[in-house]
Amino acid sequence: ATPTALMVGTGRGAQLGILIRGPEVLESTRRVDTVVLDKTGTVTTGRMALRDVVPGEGVGEDELLRVAGALEDASEHPIARAIAQGARERAAEDAPPLPVPEDFENLAGLGVQGTVEGRHVRIGRPPSGPVENRDGAGGAPAAEQTVLPDGLARAKAEAEAAGRTAVAVSWDGAVRGVLTVSDTVKESSAQAVRELRQLGLTPVLLTGDNRTVAEAVAREVGIEGEGGVIAEVLPEDKAEQVRRLQSEGHTVAMVGDGVNDAAALASADLGLAMGTGTDAAIEAGDLTLVRGDLRVAADAIRLARRTLGTIK
Ligand code: ADP
Ligand code: MG
Repeated sequence: ATPTALMVGTGRGAQLGILIRGPEVLESTRRVDTVVLDKTGTVTTGRMALRDVVPGEGVGEDELLRVAGALEDASEHPIARAIAQGARERAAEDAPPLPVPEDFENLAGLGVQGTVEGRHVRIGRPPSGPVENRDGAGGAPAAEQTVLPDGLARAKAEAEAAGRTAVAVSWDGAVRGVLTVSDTVKESSAQAVRELRQLGLTPVLLTGDNRTVAEAVAREVGIEGEGGVIAEVLPEDKAEQVRRLQSEGHTVAMVGDGVNDAAALASADLGLAMGTGTDAAIEAGDLTLVRGDLRVAADAIRLARRTLGTIK
């Protein structure tokens, strides 16, 4: 394509709500055959709400929510915001404000830990089964690595089958309860997946979330088949998943919004950042989808092919 055609493509992109880092970006856009989609905040709204509060034996619902809310109040993660907000909303009218944690640590892609009123608390991915899992191997839970009691395991399984994310709250060496949060799939996501397929592209859902939850979301937007869902991936391994697809011969576009997605966006042949996402993602991307609408990812690829004269 001539430089003029590329400039025109860039201008047309701006009209569609696509910010293009430079005209040369259109060249890689054209060759893409696989589109990796981050789940939370990209396919879903990322606005989570607290749903179930399931205390374990000997723990009150109020205590569970108060301790969890206090610790999560120190985190910016969408799950954390849902839990802190839910804890405030559901607290009794005369309840004291949430305590401030004595210390706090974020465990990226796993959860949070800290001290609340003398308890050493962890909140995060629940143990995957009723097995002892102490060493943190295999994407192990940030929540204290102990057994999930039967009642809590059941609550977790039911929530996940319905597409909700369950996190375990532990303190002083045992899981004390399970909280579930739900996110909603963006209205435009299923249509976007259809459009991407019509362009001959293979959509892949990539997430740090649990496999059952990821598959429920994938089903809702029409992503299916072998390799369609890559779940339980730690933030630092998202880029590695992109590189694996590239090593299998694919030209990969990655769409993401989070700090967690920045490395993967940079590794992809084409990085598309949600304009509604974090600065880290936007800086790492080649294109920004201003309105955070996934359908515009398909528009971007269509535009690149058209600009470069290779309409399929
Ligand atoms: P995604 O890839 O979908 O954007 P993340 O990598 O941010 O998800 O998180 C992966 C998983 O880590 C979550 O599904 C949850 O189990 C756990 N997790 C992360 N942060 C928190 C938190 N602040 N509180 C509880 N659990 C968390
Ligand atoms: Mg995300």
